[in-house]
Amino acid sequence: MPFKDLGLSPELLTALKPKTYPSPTPVQSEFIPAAAAGRDVWVTAPTGSGKTLAYALPLLDRLLSSQNQATPLTSALRPLPGRNPRAVQSLVLVPTRELAIQVSQTFMSIASQWGTRCKITVVFGGVSINPQMMGLRGGTDILIATPGRLIDLIEHNALKLSNVQSLVLDEADKLLELGFQDELQHILSLLPKKRQNLFLSATRPESIESLAQSILRLPHEIHIAAETPQPSVIQQRAIYTDRTQRTQLLKHLIKAENLKQVLVFVATQHSSEIVAAKLRVAGISSEPFHGQLSQGKRQQVLADFKAHRVKVVLATDLAARGLDIEKLPTVINFDLPRSAVDYTHRIGRTGRAGESGVAISFVCPESLQHWALIEKRHAVKLPQESIPGYEATTEAPEPLENNGGVKGKRPSKKDKLRQLAASKAEN
Ligand code: ADP
Ligand code: MG
Repeated sequence: MPFKDLGLSPELLTALKPKTYPSPTPVQSEFIPAAAAGRDVWVTAPTGSGKTLAYALPLLDRLLSSQNQATPLTSALRPLPGRNPRAVQSLVLVPTRELAIQVSQTFMSIASQWGTRCKITVVFGGVSINPQMMGLRGGTDILIATPGRLIDLIEHNALKLSNVQSLVLDEADKLLELGFQDELQHILSLLPKKRQNLFLSATRPESIESLAQSILRLPHEIHIAAETPQPSVIQQRAIYTDRTQRTQLLKHLIKAENLKQVLVFVATQHSSEIVAAKLRVAGISSEPFHGQLSQGKRQQVLADFKAHRVKVVLATDLAARGLDIEKLPTVINFDLPRSAVDYTHRIGRTGRAGESGVAISFVCPESLQHWALIEKRHAVKLPQESIPGYEATTEAPEPLENNGGVKGKRPSKKDKLRQLAASKAEN
């Protein structure tokens, strides 16, 4: 079904460039008519299914039509003296700064053709509040915000939410996961009772159900199950190696396989810094990307990565969701993700929108059991590759469960360490 059959106004349709958006994604085809008709909508659909545009279009359409209906004196174009000319009509809450920026870019890329007619503002924490307060002078039509900063701004009297007509909770699962429950309740209490609610998430854990039930009224539900990653689009590989060899192996792969743009997931901020530094020493342009970095630095790293000025980004899971780096060819799990769901999100950074991509996981003797669990959840069993020169030499630790093996027959890793320590002490 083309965009023109979804109930959007001709004025809005002219802003949709067919080159960028040739036709609606399945989520958009279902979401847009329901939202445009004013209904609450509840979507569960995997990362990359086009949820941002799904809510951006009906909200922009509503804004355009409300302006067209307004009489000149009260119109947003002719503010009355001493009165806030624009009241927030749509509020989009997102969990992270990166997502806030990305969502605002989607809105602005469409609304920019109407010049100053649609005012879209994005606010998030981690940067000075003053420019954001200035930016909100004269109001805004659409506000994209992270919850904490939004509350700060309200407390500074920088804006009011009493005219909000539509509320969007994007990545609602992540909002809860990051502990924004109290902030959310506070913000909800400031909104008009009568409003449209658009609720989007990639997963549907139980905590989401109760939040959704408390907010949504007779929602139109769209449920697109998270697929296990398609092997035809994302080629998954598992390379078996020793923990201590991973940095060397990473360097080797980047060079030997001539990898161009690599997103590497590590478990901690510390390893993100250390591994990036080691790659740089080896002449591979690399940057860490984690929550301790300033907002400016994070944006810079992403921009450099997208523009191919940086080849490798070493990221903690902060980057795993929401970020839209187009055509990312390679994702590497230097450390395995904690859960099978995180695995899906991480490898979802590659092979987007039909592009092919490779997701490589480093599996070590210590993480073998954990890897087996991830494979089981995804109903896959990948061949365990060994790269010559980087093969695992240590043995897997004893399985925790009694698998029928005879304990104590061969020395465990601990035994070996003890033996080594003893022999060192002798020498
Ligand atoms: P989600 O929020 O579901 O994870 P996004 O809104 O971030 O997905 O969209 C994922 C990618 O798909 C983005 O690069 C976006 O520009 C692109 N996209 C969205 N809608 C369409 C469309 N109708 N046609 C082509 N590409 C689209
Ligand atoms: Mg999204």
